[in-house]
Amino acid sequence: EKAPRPLVAGNWKMNGLSSALEEIGAIADGAASEAAGDAEVAICPPATLLVLAAETVGGAIALGGQDCHPKESGAHTGDISAEMLAELGASYIIVGHSERRSDHGETDALVQEKAKAAWRAGVVPIVCVGETEAERLEGKALEVVGRQLQDSIPGGATADNLVVAYEPVWAIGTGRTPTNEDIAEMHGHMRKLLIERFGANAEGVRLLYGGSVKPANASEILAIADVNGALVGGASLKAKDFLAICEAYA
Ligand code: PEP
Repeated sequence: EKAPRPLVAGNWKMNGLSSALEEIGAIADGAASEAAGDAEVAICPPATLLVLAAETVGGAIALGGQDCHPKESGAHTGDISAEMLAELGASYIIVGHSERRSDHGETDALVQEKAKAAWRAGVVPIVCVGETEAERLEGKALEVVGRQLQDSIPGGATADNLVVAYEPVWAIGTGRTPTNEDIAEMHGHMRKLLIERFGANAEGVRLLYGGSVKPANASEILAIADVNGALVGGASLKAKDFLAICEAYA
């Protein structure tokens, strides 16, 4: 089986005024050079910057949204639909990030609706899953993530319409990461579950690791079996750091 093309996606969270477009421009320039190797590079800025970012990158990198509402339009003050993000040029939408799950009480069922909304708009959802520290200490990480996968991913997933990000909650923004063995075990587990449910095509679903990925640990983590890229938070805000992570694929 041919390994899928890796994806390195930056999640800017609630960071970035228009002055930050310089960094996006620098990321686009770097991604177009040989340094990024074979990886597909994407940035998910706040929705307020998406339209400006699309003008800045000129197609050199992919763009994504950080969340969407399940509906196409309607009386949902403050929300943004997948169609609106698609119109701005988003190829991806992060759904089910642990910060959405904890800040806004998002359930797996809602995350699944959001993933379907992304499909409806022709956008690929990056479905985030991951255990808390207590769940890992109790030995329940595989079970918790398996259930999140089952309940957050709609039927009909394929290698072309789905990306999954494994983000242990306790590794996000903490500087801590699981051992390479634990990452390998989880990614192998997710791959097995996806193939059981969706068939051999799921061998091509990209499984990203996320949680404190930095230039110093990127090549080690991205070399682990069934890790097909990274979802990067803090280290994606500076072009220099983010490109150094992309270089793991050069
Ligand atoms: C994230 O929140 O998606 C993430 C991976 O954050 P960080 O890289 O900052 O841990």
